[in-house]
Amino acid sequence: MILRCSNCELSYPTSVPRWRCDCGSYLRLEGTGMFRPDQVKGRAASLWRYAEALGLRTFGTRVTLGEGFTPLVCGKLGGQPVLFKLDYLFPTGSFKDRGCAVMISKLKEWRVSEIVEDSSGNAGAAVAAYSAAAGIRANIYIPQSASAGKAAQIGIYGAKLIRVQGTREDTTRAALEAAQSSFYASHNWSPYFVAGLKSLAFEVAEQLEWEAPDWVVAPVGGGGLILGLYRGFTELLEAGLIHKLPRLVAVQAEQCAPVYQAWAANLTEVPPVEKRETAAEGISISQPIQGKDILKAVRGSNGMVRTVSDAVIWDALRMLGEKGIYVEPTAAAAPAAVIGMMAEGILSPHEIVVVVLTGIGLKATDKILQHQGI
Ligand SMILES: *Cc1c(COP(=O)(O)O)cnc(C)c1O
Ligand SMILES: [Zn+2]
Repeated sequence: MILRCSNCELSYPTSVPRWRCDCGSYLRLEGTGMFRPDQVKGRAASLWRYAEALGLRTFGTRVTLGEGFTPLVCGKLGGQPVLFKLDYLFPTGSFKDRGCAVMISKLKEWRVSEIVEDSSGNAGAAVAAYSAAAGIRANIYIPQSASAGKAAQIGIYGAKLIRVQGTREDTTRAALEAAQSSFYASHNWSPYFVAGLKSLAFEVAEQLEWEAPDWVVAPVGGGGLILGLYRGFTELLEAGLIHKLPRLVAVQAEQCAPVYQAWAANLTEVPPVEKRETAAEGISISQPIQGKDILKAVRGSNGMVRTVSDAVIWDALRMLGEKGIYVEPTAAAAPAAVIGMMAEGILSPHEIVVVVLTGIGLKATDKILQHQGI
């Protein structure tokens, strides 16, 4: 395995700690292996059943809190049959555990003892939890506006929590400055975070008895989720374990939609946008670092980018609640998009549509109460 720059193609060994290329661009992890379905079958119900493909060399440093193999359950959205992937059922309440379990395991292998991370909250909580399990000191920077549930979690995991006044981007700047005397363990930069997210594709394929769905719909902010899906399904296809790629639908909030704008304008990079406040705080990123690869994933899968307004996000959140499913507003963006696609006739009832539900409602108790006027 090697780390290769997404810009200048320079490569680096995976044995030495590093979070980006000397040229300043992000790195991709190449040369990870593949498991065999018959090997996987008898293993525990966690994402580590796919360990051969997750990009770690030694399993002695594995950091685990029992993450993964979340349920895939049947449901309906506006008349469209769907499969909900319950990725809010993770140790820290969001899918970010997929990436952080692998990323923190790698940091432990590298013997990194202290890290800096910035996040809108969920990645911060996941990094804090896995750092606690690994014995790594974590300094987590989050915006002042982040949901209280996420801030509380980060504190209880024993991380140092720094709340930054200003925008999400101000938070990143503060973290980068602190990282000069520490290690920058940003999930938005880490190729190991993306490697961990491949497990989402592997689980869906295994749960469908080694076939790909027609569509996978997921919210997109920094892009780790959609990149993990794309790489995971691509590697399964290359290994002959599935026979097609699902079409990936990247969902953004109308208030902050840099990927949508780049996709609609046929660009190959994602320029920054001016954003407005949105209930979908987890995808409120005005310029994703790995934008180039996000666009490739959407186009390479013959997928699309959709936007949803805060009003339809709240409608979808309530609609899911009435089915007994409680998610945070960011996670309601994907089902909201499915309802719109259904209404426009993009989906058909005989297609298999997987909707990734990324974060649990308990994370955003303050914002949900506020929305209800309580
Ligand atoms: C982080 C997050 C997302 C977006 O994932 P990316 O990998 O940043 O694109 C979606 N939903 C929730 C709940 C999140 O926390
Ligand atoms: Zn480079």
